[in-house]
Amino acid sequence: MKEIILSNLNIIEQRIANACREYNRDPSEVKLLLATKTVSADNIKIAIEAGYPLIGENKVQEIKQKYEILNTVPHRKHFIGHLQTNKIKDILKHDVTCIESLDRLDLAEKLHQHLDRRQMKIDVFIQINTSNEESKFGIKPEEAEPFIRAVAKFPTIQIKGLMTIGLFSAETEKVRPCFQMLKTIQKHITTLNIPNVELKELSMGMSNDLEVAIEEGATILRIGTAIFGQRIYPDSYYWNENNN
Ligand SMILES: *Cc1c(COP(=O)(O)O)cnc(C)c1O
Repeated sequence: MKEIILSNLNIIEQRIANACREYNRDPSEVKLLLATKTVSADNIKIAIEAGYPLIGENKVQEIKQKYEILNTVPHRKHFIGHLQTNKIKDILKHDVTCIESLDRLDLAEKLHQHLDRRQMKIDVFIQINTSNEESKFGIKPEEAEPFIRAVAKFPTIQIKGLMTIGLFSAETEKVRPCFQMLKTIQKHITTLNIPNVELKELSMGMSNDLEVAIEEGATILRIGTAIFGQRIYPDSYYWNENNN
């Protein structure tokens, strides 16, 4: 398994380098996040030790299961799944440094209460539903501004970026408008100069569409399958409300 993961990482690195060259992006502004759902802690460790210290998990349960083994290697952990309010405590206890999937005001409010009690702050990205699919979580694009203004009032929550899962399609060209929409929202919000909001990061692009994401301005690519292989669960298991 180790050889496969390392060789896959090489291929991804090449794809990122080629896309950055082609689309005039500074490679230092494009980070790779390992999307590690269903991947064992030992296999994640291999990738972290190969020089990729940023991981993203979808389920609190998996964060807990892998916590001890992963604690033996320095890394940073983002949460990229659907977060239920009753799991906030676990997120904070297990060193999640950024929640990329903030998409509800009640979640922000509870998060603030927990953080305030612990005198902590956390980074968040706002998840936007750019594909207009019912099955996906996220704020509707037209609600992004009022939502961000509302979340920005919580002093413990630092809004650092936007995240989206593009349209689920084998045709990457159909995903492009989703990524363009995220960039458009970023530009718009930035012109508003809202205190406590600094949208530096655009988390978009996965195994199939990372080149398009780089072309459209991604700063964080979330890659799973192309590094760790196919998962046995369909992604809908992680992305739909019914399965949480
Ligand atoms: C699984 C997942 C990814 C990675 O998808 P791959 O196609 O395996 O690269 C990215 N983002 C989120 C939110 C995911 O759940």
